[in-house]
Amino acid sequence: MALGPVLLGAGFVAATVTAVDRSRATERLAVAATAVRTSVDALCQQLRAAADAVALTTDQADVAVQVVNRGLAAAIQVTDATGRVRHATPDPPPAPWRDCTAAAPAGGTVGALVARVELRDSAGTPLGAVTAAQPVDPAFVARLAGVTGAAVTLLDGTAPPVQVAHTTESPGGREAVLTAAASLHDDRVTSTPDGRYLRRAGPTVGQPLPLVLSVPSDQPPGLSAVLVGVVLLAALVGVATAWRLARVTTRPLVELADAVDRVVAGDLTARVPVRGGDEIGRLAGAVNRMARETGGYLAALASSRDQLRGHLAVLGDTLASTHDLHRILRVILHSALVATGARAGAILLTGPDGGLVAQCVEGFDGWPEAGPPRVPLACGAVGAVAATGQPCRGRLVAYAGPPDEPRCRTYLAVPLAGPGTPIGDRPAVGPPAATSTAAAPTLGVLALYDRLGGTEFDDDDLARLRTFAGHAAVAVHNVRVHEETQRLSLTDPLTGLWNYRYLRESLRREVERANRFGRMVSVLALDLDRFKEVNDTYGHAAGDAVLVEFARRVRGEIREVDLAFRQGGEEFVVLLPETDARGAAIVAERLGASVRANPVPVTGHARVRRSVPVTVSIGIAVYPDHAESGPRVLAAADEALYAAKAAGRDTWRVASAQPDGEPAGTGRTGQVGGASSGPHPSRYGHGR
Ligand code: GH3
Ligand code: MG
Ligand code: MG
Repeated sequence: MALGPVLLGAGFVAATVTAVDRSRATERLAVAATAVRTSVDALCQQLRAAADAVALTTDQADVAVQVVNRGLAAAIQVTDATGRVRHATPDPPPAPWRDCTAAAPAGGTVGALVARVELRDSAGTPLGAVTAAQPVDPAFVARLAGVTGAAVTLLDGTAPPVQVAHTTESPGGREAVLTAAASLHDDRVTSTPDGRYLRRAGPTVGQPLPLVLSVPSDQPPGLSAVLVGVVLLAALVGVATAWRLARVTTRPLVELADAVDRVVAGDLTARVPVRGGDEIGRLAGAVNRMARETGGYLAALASSRDQLRGHLAVLGDTLASTHDLHRILRVILHSALVATGARAGAILLTGPDGGLVAQCVEGFDGWPEAGPPRVPLACGAVGAVAATGQPCRGRLVAYAGPPDEPRCRTYLAVPLAGPGTPIGDRPAVGPPAATSTAAAPTLGVLALYDRLGGTEFDDDDLARLRTFAGHAAVAVHNVRVHEETQRLSLTDPLTGLWNYRYLRESLRREVERANRFGRMVSVLALDLDRFKEVNDTYGHAAGDAVLVEFARRVRGEIREVDLAFRQGGEEFVVLLPETDARGAAIVAERLGASVRANPVPVTGHARVRRSVPVTVSIGIAVYPDHAESGPRVLAAADEALYAAKAAGRDTWRVASAQPDGEPAGTGRTGQVGGASSGPHPSRYGHGR
């Protein structure tokens, strides 16, 4: 684009300069041609005058010499009518001579220019002629060149092939003249490759010499080179400017595209240099801002993910390492709060009565105010969740929940689904539904309150909370299964009382506690009287029924802190913490009476319903009165039991006092009337 005008301008300049130059050269050549004609004409007139001067005298030989001496002619020749030379000055110019009046050009090299005057007598008879000659030599040509101001070349002949006779041209110019001579006619001007202009100047009438004039071009030397240089420079400048412009325009776009590519590839540290306030600059700023904010957002996300990962690790460790349900639930609740960004939360478990009892809470100020809050089933949001098994979430405009529920603005509660509830069948979330009578088997509710930022809990929160609720449900279930397994491994399957294994552990623990607090523990050893007969008479099943009923009556007669065990067969043990022999005797008395009072109804052989009278014998021993260890106090109670059996059964006996240094239960059993530190038999013994 930029080159076009430059080329045009250069062409115009070149054309104008050439045209002007040619026109000036033409003019100069025309002037030079005129000067040549004038010079030759003047020379011819001079020669004619010289010839006239010689012709008019009688002493032609002397006058001829004088004329030559004066320089009016180079040579004078006088001929007679026959053409014979009568007088001739010495050193005539070489032939051929060309007459000044010759009209047509003649071939051959012109040796001299001559003027001839006829000699006639008065009658007009030709007597001869006087010829004045001037040589046409290099000096003559040089003089012409000096007069005209142009280079002058005298050609040898006019028709091709022309030769150069004399010239003032340089050798190069001489060649150019030869080349161009054939095409030169009249006053036509032509130019040579070396920058000269040529034209002919004769032969014409009055100027018989075939001359070629040439003038150098006025065009400044190297104009073309300068013009080409200018064009090249302009081209160079144009290309450089275009390159620079393209760079200035496209570089920010390329940088922008590169940065966007890097951001897309995940490199959020990519930044675009902002070079100005134009559209591209604003775009670059926007891209930088976007990358920075996305980077910050990602960092926050990564940190929150790491935090969550940490909590999940703690949760996993807790789940794997402990059966401490409260600790597990606390960790789950804390993790759920961190994961969802809620202000507060609670985990409530369904109690035996169906109501919800808060197991752990976090983030509440002053709630629960007193003791663990209980939320009746189907009451409030958490109650509805527990009753329906459906999660719920929402926003409260005005708080209208039960006093058992915390005040909040937004909430999200999910059920702890019991084992066997398929996840895919779980209903969609919604606001608290009307109480459903077909309550889902939920273990409890995990509830979060007041999402940070004031927005409502969303689907992501619900999904996360469901995960945590799943963990909590599994934990609750596992702990309960564990507790049940524990219980089963320590209880007697027939009567539901604790078994012998648990008896040993309980005895050790109670003795230890009694030691620590300086208290007593009473041990009652019980054995049903003549139980073999019951089996034999009514069958083994009836015997079992008697054992079950006996266990029930024992449980009914003891306190909550007391423990009843089936040691094996029809032998039982009761532990009475913080009870001395007197208290133990009262319990034994009560137990005996309870068993004795109501015969046990059983279905005997042939499905006959019978009432079986049952009695029990009881031996009592007290730690530390009767023995110094758990096993020994149990042995002492056994000893006392034997004493009761020996005393006729359906009675109780207290172990005899432990003699100094001698362990109890070594045969010195307390019995009716026996020497012991126990109660007097007349006061505590029982007879039928
Ligand atoms: P006493 O203790 O008054 O001296 O007489 P007893 O008949 O109770 O004495 P013994 O210890 O000889 O009999 C215990 C019987 O208890 C033996 C067995 O048939 C019965 N028995 C033990 N375990 C069970 C049980 O689990 N179920 C039933 N039905 N009977 C059992
Ligand atoms: Mg027995
Ligand atoms: Mg017995």
